[in-house]
Amino acid sequence: MKLNRLNLLFAAAAVAALPALAARNVEEFKTSAGTLKITTVQHAAFIIEAGGQTVYVDPDQGSYDGLPPADLILVTDIHGDHMAPAVIAKVRKPGTATQIIAPAAVARTVTDAAVLANGESKTVGAWTIEAIPMYNLKRGPSAGQLFHDKGRGNGYVVTYGGLRIYIAGDTEGVPEMRALKNIDVAFIPMNLPYTMPPDEAADAVKAFHPKVVYPYHYQGQDPKVFENALGGSGIDVRLRNWY
Ligand code: ZN
Repeated sequence: MKLNRLNLLFAAAAVAALPALAARNVEEFKTSAGTLKITTVQHAAFIIEAGGQTVYVDPDQGSYDGLPPADLILVTDIHGDHMAPAVIAKVRKPGTATQIIAPAAVARTVTDAAVLANGESKTVGAWTIEAIPMYNLKRGPSAGQLFHDKGRGNGYVVTYGGLRIYIAGDTEGVPEMRALKNIDVAFIPMNLPYTMPPDEAADAVKAFHPKVVYPYHYQGQDPKVFENALGGSGIDVRLRNWY
């Protein structure tokens, strides 16, 4: 199957390019339900902690040593730099204590994931998770193909204590991103050829105007270009070490 071959190529590329472990950055945000803490891991992976719960986003690259086990895991897509069953197995709690939310394409491999389709949402304790479309508009491995077809993967808006965190996943600046409202914190990809260049990412971010934005998933690109393009916008651009 063509898709599987493509996945293997992605996985091989991710392993070949595996950099030294990134230093973790810890970011804190006030919410109506107390402080929320975000710890970066690497590339597309980070964790969110609040109310004694830990949410993992795309546990895949990087080191998970010393981090608390996952109560909830969000997976965005099937590619080798987002879906890593061995890492999920490492960070989850025994049995069914950890909930996993993923699109259907991921649940074919991570078989105990609860499936969330684009546009659907789910509440898990104090967390609300909404699945946002993530896809390419024009970039793909060859003419007529896209790296990410609409409907396969999920970006997410995670809400906790009124704080709204947008995790874009692998996407270009699609209309569904540009139409987002009231985003406090956004994680935006900018690597080529799979997502979009920093100037396109900045243009899309201007459209929905989050309060704070983190470039992530930017290997091979210069996030300073993104920062400069958002100069004077009033958006707090935070460059951190993801590699
Ligand atoms: Zn990716």
